[in-house]
Amino acid sequence: MMAKRQAFKIDMHVHSMYSGESPAEPRDIVEAAKEKGLDAIVITEHERLSLSLPFEELRKTAGHLKIFRGVELSTDAGHMLVYGVTDEDWKDWGADRVCSAQELIARSAKLGGLAIPAHPYSLEKRNAFDNAPSVVVDERIKHLTGLKALEVCNGKHSRFPEVCEVLGRYAASVNLPGIGGSDAHMPEEVGRAYTSFRVPVYSARDIVREILRGHVWPQADSLKLTTSRISAFVICEISM
Ligand SMILES: [Zn+2]
Ligand SMILES: [Zn+2]
Repeated sequence: MMAKRQAFKIDMHVHSMYSGESPAEPRDIVEAAKEKGLDAIVITEHERLSLSLPFEELRKTAGHLKIFRGVELSTDAGHMLVYGVTDEDWKDWGADRVCSAQELIARSAKLGGLAIPAHPYSLEKRNAFDNAPSVVVDERIKHLTGLKALEVCNGKHSRFPEVCEVLGRYAASVNLPGIGGSDAHMPEEVGRAYTSFRVPVYSARDIVREILRGHVWPQADSLKLTTSRISAFVICEISM
């Protein structure tokens, strides 16, 4: 009998006090990730890759939890997450401005990384009291070339499980893998959405390779409630 393989769970989108919107201390973020049973987190502070440098120190005390670093940038096609680039190569490119998404995709790829649209959707309310707005895929990402994946599940929007469904269906229709991340700014939000990887990853380059292979599945707490309604989703077959 084959041994049961565990999926490798990574919260791909985590912030701390260095993103300037919360008082979350890096060590509290790391503790929360361990408590949630995640295998790894990617710190994606706003604007500058170098902001997450203090997390390097925490690797020593993080136990089994792996800590990787990326960055979230503002572009003309919305926020984008960058993975798999080094401080030396990246040099905080794109900070404090709205950069060109197309340029960001090209630059990331040239350096062996990946740029992935974060939360690429909007909620359209029919009126001010609409509690069930419709989820619309951000038009701006539809015109980009060279995209390799989309953030399909974002923990900030667990009130709207349709977001995961709509983005998952769109990603499937354009043949792109989806990832999930909590977008946590507070420790208690860590792990609300994450990505299941088929194999363990040991470096940021491994993350890029596995996403390019499509061996990743977006996951969110809210998904558990709606799984029966999801058709286009490939739910991870590997036992969690
Ligand atoms: Zn964002
Ligand atoms: Zn974010």
